[in-house]
Amino acid sequence: MNQRCYSVAIDGPAGAGKSTMARRAAQALNFVYVDTGAIYRTVAYATLSRGIMPEDGDAVAALLPELKLELSWQEGVQHMLLNGSDVTTEIRKPEISDGASKVAALPVVRDFLMETQRNAARIHSVIMDGRDIGTVVLPDADVKIFLSASPEVRAKRRLLELQAQNRTLTFEEVLQDIKERDYRDSHRKTAPLRQADDAVLLDTSNLSLEESVDAILNLIRKKIGL
Ligand code: C5P
Repeated sequence: MNQRCYSVAIDGPAGAGKSTMARRAAQALNFVYVDTGAIYRTVAYATLSRGIMPEDGDAVAALLPELKLELSWQEGVQHMLLNGSDVTTEIRKPEISDGASKVAALPVVRDFLMETQRNAARIHSVIMDGRDIGTVVLPDADVKIFLSASPEVRAKRRLLELQAQNRTLTFEEVLQDIKERDYRDSHRKTAPLRQADDAVLLDTSNLSLEESVDAILNLIRKKIGL
């Protein structure tokens, strides 16, 4: 007998802590964590590595049919394969963050990635994080959470992550990047970042990581009775 697959959509702006919190919550529930930002990042990586400008819609559209994107999980960590090569580490660079939010504004890219995202939720119980999961990708998700925190708190968290990877950026640079991405993500025409009408808003500005994960788990357990 097929087991029912549950889906949890977690959306929110850059640096709200979605990926760390979603990964931990997925581990606790034995769900698969799907990081959709990584899929957009992989398209940006492919674009930039071929010298294509991520805002050049025609050139990006022409490239898409040549891209084979695969998600695989190793010990709960999502890996991205681009035409068979593992690009999981390369896609975390700051220039890729910027490129990802530019390719993500192209409707042709969003359409191209839709099935990859939906397929993941067909075969597993998932916690999927992104910008439009509750509104567009999984509109029937069992639980929808919109995670937020002030830009300054998000910049501080992102800076700590980047420092742990030995990247030397200033707080101001990270804050500026977050504000630019917030603007681009919430003002684009296709699938802008916004809270779904049936999503629960969780502001984590004053919560620790553990408190945030507990709050997410409580919401999920209450909603689907796990
Ligand atoms: O979540 P992350 O910061 O890795 O995402 C990189 C970029 O990909 C975001 O700034 C956003 O523009 C885009 N994105 C999106 N829709 C998603 C996930 C990410 O537009 N579902």
